[in-house]
Amino acid sequence: MKAAVQECAQAPLVLQDVPVPGVGPREVRVRVRACGVCHTDLHLGEGLFKTFGYDPFPLVPGHEIAGVVDEVGSDVTHVRCGDPVVVYWWHSCGRCRCCLAGEEESCLEGLSRMNATGLTRHGGYAEFVSVPAESLVPLPAEIEFAEAAPFSCAGLTVYAGLRNAGLRPGQRAAILGIGGLGHFGLQIARAMGAEVIALTSSEAKREIARRLGAHHVLPAAGREFGKQLRELGGADVVVSTTMDFQAIRDVLDGLRPQGTLVLASLTAGRLPIDPRTMILAQQRVMGTFLGSRSQLGELLKLAVLHGIRPVLEKYPLERVNEVQQRLRQNKVQFRAVLEP
Ligand SMILES: [Zn+2]
Ligand SMILES: [Zn+2]
Repeated sequence: MKAAVQECAQAPLVLQDVPVPGVGPREVRVRVRACGVCHTDLHLGEGLFKTFGYDPFPLVPGHEIAGVVDEVGSDVTHVRCGDPVVVYWWHSCGRCRCCLAGEEESCLEGLSRMNATGLTRHGGYAEFVSVPAESLVPLPAEIEFAEAAPFSCAGLTVYAGLRNAGLRPGQRAAILGIGGLGHFGLQIARAMGAEVIALTSSEAKREIARRLGAHHVLPAAGREFGKQLRELGGADVVVSTTMDFQAIRDVLDGLRPQGTLVLASLTAGRLPIDPRTMILAQQRVMGTFLGSRSQLGELLKLAVLHGIRPVLEKYPLERVNEVQQRLRQNKVQFRAVLEP
């Protein structure tokens, strides 16, 4: 089969002809119909995970996978060949207190012994991928494969952030940064019943932000996100999807009393937090990582009910290096998927 292989860090992907993966007794092979290209794939290629003690290369990257069940292991009874599926790519132990609570993304073993399709096991930049059987989530017929793939990382990350922040209908949700995650955030927050505010400094994204569900787009001018958000009346939940740390610092000023800032993008820096302000306003700053398998199922249902879909660029597998370069240069509108 065709696969794009990352042979080592800091090197372009190489298209290779490799054996079709086999299936263990509790595994399923999926014919990949679409695989999203995520910023994490760039971090992987840059060798970031070496700093966590992992050297997974050579590896087939790709964790936003949608496809069709192609073969099932001897112990697998809950899916059949031909079933359309999305892969929940973060593989947890199933035994720790987080897993038992249905919060696999916080699996104590998973975080210490990273086991993830596309990061430490071969992923979806290929025609086929084998994954643990319990990682499959049924794909509703209403959603196409290419549209489905980005839900498993970009979509899920913002959905879980909004859910875990406790967003309620009628509240205000602001999405900082309108890209791969943020453009999902506008649609999802709207579907969850919020008044939605897009925070973007890009003139070009104002119109599409409104089309995707934003009731307001800020800033009107300049880059004073926090000040303008406060003048509009503030937000109960702000989800940051930007790599612009200054913007994240700034947006804290726009949080309402009892509001929550949700950090969803892997950016570095130190936030200025004054305990007195936080105490009096009872505010929270929280991180969010991925989301759970059941939340992925919920999100796909929400997508069917409310017409939530990513805005896509589609490419054949052969153009993977060009696609990653577009992502690196912030040119992708708004999620790129490979169709192997
Ligand atoms: Zn991702
Ligand atoms: Zn666990």
